[in-house]
Amino acid sequence: MLDKRQFYINGTWCDPVAGQDFDVIDPSTEEPCAVISLGGAADTDGAVAAAKAALPGWMHSDPAERLALAKRILAEYKARADDMAQAISLEMGAPIDLSRASQVAAGVGNISAFISAFDQIEFITPLGDHAPDDRIIREAVGVCALITPWNWPMNQVTLKVIPALLAGCTMVLKPSEIAPLSSVVWTEIMDAAGTPKGVYNMVQGDGPGVGSQLSGHRDVDMVSFTGSTRAGIAISKNAAETLKRVHLELGGKGANLIFADADEKAVKRGVMHCFQNTGQSCNAPTRMLVERSIYDRTVEQARELAEATRVGPASEPGRHIGPVVSQTQFDKIQDLIQTGMDEGARLVAGGLGRPEGVNRGYFVRPTVFADVTNDMTIAREEIFGPVLSILPFENEDEAVAIANDTVYGLTNYVQSEDGARRNRLARQLRSGMVEMNGKSRGAGSPFGGMKQSGNGREGGVWGIEDFLEVKAVSGWATAAE
Ligand code: NAD
Repeated sequence: MLDKRQFYINGTWCDPVAGQDFDVIDPSTEEPCAVISLGGAADTDGAVAAAKAALPGWMHSDPAERLALAKRILAEYKARADDMAQAISLEMGAPIDLSRASQVAAGVGNISAFISAFDQIEFITPLGDHAPDDRIIREAVGVCALITPWNWPMNQVTLKVIPALLAGCTMVLKPSEIAPLSSVVWTEIMDAAGTPKGVYNMVQGDGPGVGSQLSGHRDVDMVSFTGSTRAGIAISKNAAETLKRVHLELGGKGANLIFADADEKAVKRGVMHCFQNTGQSCNAPTRMLVERSIYDRTVEQARELAEATRVGPASEPGRHIGPVVSQTQFDKIQDLIQTGMDEGARLVAGGLGRPEGVNRGYFVRPTVFADVTNDMTIAREEIFGPVLSILPFENEDEAVAIANDTVYGLTNYVQSEDGARRNRLARQLRSGMVEMNGKSRGAGSPFGGMKQSGNGREGGVWGIEDFLEVKAVSGWATAAE
């Protein structure tokens, strides 16, 4: 069993001061595969103190130095790609090919996009011709606590650490205790890239422990959090005492509007996307809204696709889906499938229990419900498993009304060959992102939500700006520039 109990504080790997052992469980086998330590207040305080001490030097460093560091991190990350893929696959159950091609690759994409976007950040700009002695300075927010989830671990870590670094912030990363191993590899990468002492620190811990200590800490200026809406609310409340900035990326319940004129691959794309990463994506299109005239054949197609979806261990190569991450998630998904049946949704594929022949590991049957109404629990709550709900609609107005009738607003999807309709819907859907006809968003596009899906934007220029304060200066000596 791997021993990964150390933290990284002030440029050094160190033993916990107030740690408690915690087993990391391999979701494919339900066996412990590593032990980490959940830190306590003394560990959190040590990491925050290191970040605070490093702040003045780093926030006033030459932006070119910060850019050079990001480039070295990217090179190290690419060199460690296979270790990273293995760590993610082991800790959260992503099949190894998905781990390499999507989980690890997301990190490369994010870091590269930040490097490209950095040129567009202007750290000092004039206010305008009417005020020649005014300048607007953009400077680092300060010491940041970065709290990340288990489902796309390196996507989330790179979306926070790199823009924070580029902005000139110093930081403490607290990865998910469920998937902490990838962040150990990540921290080795940060160390090997020559990150200056104290700029980046990493403490393992859980929400009630290190998580709450960071969100309530008086020396932390900002929390950037990705995770559940439940934890986002707890963090916001705890952070309110010190009025720190809170950036939230939370859950979703994406609608995928499939019109009768959609292209022939639209349904397959929607089902596969819902099941990708075993349904554990905040932007998963989990509510498939289908125009009535193609409803029956769409349900049939979704059933066939679900039944053809293979489920298997994370270590096996192939395009199957892996287990869900934990016993807690497995139980929650089973309860929601049961609730779907109890509330009258029609089960057309999958259902309760593990797939046939499997008696170990948190494996869930790829499940499709039809005749779902938007007031049912399975249409309202984030399930975070391979469970698709299909709802019929009569016309465009009804489709928009159903799509927007949710507390979430992260990503919605539209499938239609009618360009005017697509553009209309892009404006009407209340979500931070609208993806249409299977076109993925370009590199550096802002990721984030509206309503209870959060308030931040990650990626590209917007992602860096989220870590910058705006300072207004008058009486600037133009001659001394
Ligand atoms: P979670 O909220 O349980 O945990 C996320 C992180 O927050 C972990 O590091 C955890 O230790 C920490 N945490 C938990 N309670 C805390 C508290 N009270 N104070 C401080 N920290 C706390 O979420 P999860 O189960 O790890 O991840 C799944 C959730 O993340 C889903 O709801 C998913 O939709 C969401 N998510 C959102 C995005 C996005 O960008 N919008 C991306 C990925 C995942």
